[in-house]
Amino acid sequence: MLRLENVSKYYHSNDVVALGLRKVSLEFKLGEFIAVTGESGSGKSTLLNVISGLDTYEDGEMYINGEETSYFSIDEWETYRRQYIGFVFQSYNIIDSYSVYENVLVALQIQGYDPLKRKERALELIRRVGLESHTHHKASKLSGGQKQRAVIARALAKDCPVIVCDEPTGNLDSESSRNIIELLKEISENKLVIVVTHNYDEIKDYATRRIRLFDGEVVEDKVLRNRADVEDSMSVPSYRMSFMNLVGMSTKNLFRTPRRSIFSIIVTMFVVLAFALSFGVFKKNQGDTGNYYGSEYFQNVIENRIIVTKFDDSVFSLTELQELRDIEDVMMLIEHDVLLDFVISAEIEEYDWSYYEQMYLTPAVILKDRDLRSGRLPQNATEVVVDEGMGYKVGDQMESFYSFGRYYYGEGPGGQADVEPDLLLDVVGVSKDIIANDWRYRVYVHEEFFKDSVIIGKAYIGAQSYINFSADILDLAEGEFSEMSLWNPELVIDNTLADNEIKFGYDFLNQAYYMIHNADYNLEEEFIPFDIDLHVTSSFFQNDKTLTVVGVEGDPEKYEYGKIAMNQTLYDELAAIDKYQIALIVSDSFDADNVIDIIKAEGYNAIYPAGVETYNSIVNNIISGIWFGFLMILLMTVVYFVSYLVLRNIQFSKKKDYLIFRSIGASKNDLNKVTIIELFQTVTISFILIYALLYFNEIIYIYLPQQLKYYTIGNYIFVLLIM
Ligand code: ADP
Ligand code: MG
Repeated sequence: MLRLENVSKYYHSNDVVALGLRKVSLEFKLGEFIAVTGESGSGKSTLLNVISGLDTYEDGEMYINGEETSYFSIDEWETYRRQYIGFVFQSYNIIDSYSVYENVLVALQIQGYDPLKRKERALELIRRVGLESHTHHKASKLSGGQKQRAVIARALAKDCPVIVCDEPTGNLDSESSRNIIELLKEISENKLVIVVTHNYDEIKDYATRRIRLFDGEVVEDKVLRNRADVEDSMSVPSYRMSFMNLVGMSTKNLFRTPRRSIFSIIVTMFVVLAFALSFGVFKKNQGDTGNYYGSEYFQNVIENRIIVTKFDDSVFSLTELQELRDIEDVMMLIEHDVLLDFVISAEIEEYDWSYYEQMYLTPAVILKDRDLRSGRLPQNATEVVVDEGMGYKVGDQMESFYSFGRYYYGEGPGGQADVEPDLLLDVVGVSKDIIANDWRYRVYVHEEFFKDSVIIGKAYIGAQSYINFSADILDLAEGEFSEMSLWNPELVIDNTLADNEIKFGYDFLNQAYYMIHNADYNLEEEFIPFDIDLHVTSSFFQNDKTLTVVGVEGDPEKYEYGKIAMNQTLYDELAAIDKYQIALIVSDSFDADNVIDIIKAEGYNAIYPAGVETYNSIVNNIISGIWFGFLMILLMTVVYFVSYLVLRNIQFSKKKDYLIFRSIGASKNDLNKVTIIELFQTVTISFILIYALLYFNEIIYIYLPQQLKYYTIGNYIFVLLIM
């Protein structure tokens, strides 16, 4: 089955040519047990190496089952070695950290041997080499003879026709040597066994043939006895390791050298941490528009808010609202989006002083339990969670005021101590300041809060960008009508007024009065009602009505800016508070993207304030992109050197094992895969540990989970793969 014809092999080194083999012609058959002898340096090992495809040859031809090999590619040689050759060397190349059983088993595993029969077969082979009492002993604990037996068992596990042995008894006492030789003889009954030995005596009673080399030439080729009676042809199995086998092997590698693995994991953890941090910052910057101070159109740019209108600016029907509510990832629907741009004000305590400040209304559904410093989430309209910087504790009552049109500074609302608060809110929780770079504090309110009709009314009137009041007043001096606008009026519902009556605060009224009468309005005089044409406009509608101004609203002595009073019926008619513009609340900007796609597909107009690109946000994203790129290059350089030095060293320390794996039939390709899987496992473990640490560590909480929440599943996978 193997035939060498005039095979020559030379070694070239430093311009010196050494002769390995010269014109060797030999034929080998299955069933032979061949002793190769000769002095040291005569070419015995070279012959074995050529036969087993470890070395190439320069001249002549070697035939395997009649097939020429001189044109074999590296891959073909590899396949040949894998399928045909079992190695037994003098230095019993055994995996020390494996038991005898595992050493044999791995050979079966590499061949892709039926998993169910592996165990049985391994035990049988161990029995065959007489090691059953040492089956589960670590290889490192065995004697030389026992190791050599284990290696033979392993070579036998590989279902190959040729066993080559280079001085297999070189290190053994004569008793062990004889056992080994007997074992090899037994094996040769259906295989070709070629044994290189410098001790011909110990083998001469068993060998079927002796080949003696001298200076690379065959000087003797003598048949000593008949070879075993087997047919000289053998079909060789062709095998591939299954993916599960590869994973099994790498997992085993990971666990059998725990200290090495833990070290790798720790090193990788630093790398993962560095990447996680910079990627988190990047994601966060990309998620933010940088519009912390509100965009041109929207004050409240939380990433949870999606504004939805209809393209024809008509009112949403209940069915349509339900449809929107039912979209996946929508946590809540606010029927009056205007509320999110509405602010309320309250006293803020900072150190030893306090002042009035405005706060955004924010749906509490966006908070998770871990966002709370203390307390709980609100359960009804009067309960709120406040940002921790505001100085409130759980259990405090917060006196708040509708803020638009009455912007309070200083010591109290409008500097007046006696003003009754518009709202009494119970602080039930304090939140960590979760929205970074937010320029206003937030009051997190329950869903019910957004349904309160008084607040809705205040919000519509308050937010001038939604509803604008203006009146046409006949200017007597000019002889024409001029339009006066009432900015941010504070609406007072006064049901003692008739449906066509209206009152204004002093300042507005006085201007109107002056135009009509060309004189200041005198508070002492009786008020003479006059008619105006009032226009109430919003982006969605315009309502015009002729109304009679019947008096002054509020105390004219006080500076009360822009009041307007009317009864509820008139207000409802004019302001037409209806669902023209709603808000969908989602959990983060990534959900928002999905939801916006769905909304648009369903034929609505979606506006995403946090995503509105402004010059600032574009510049911000470019800068953060460049910064991230720079960080990545820096980091990758570090990663490269760290992993190159550390992991390479670790892999190098496994080199011997890998050579053994190869000698028992693992392909280079498979071992590369095992190495990659092993690295992947190391990284995955490090990755999980780091992200778990980031998630659960309270100390770095404030900085990190903010970033983690920007991660999508895809991002996690991305980081893992990059690593
Ligand atoms: P043996 O195993 O019989 O002791 P070898 O086959 O190892 O002999 O060596 C045969 C000849 O080839 C020797 O002269 C040796 O110096 C030379 N040789 C073997 N391997 C190499 C090598 N890798 N590089 C150069 N010369 C080598
Ligand atoms: Mg040798």
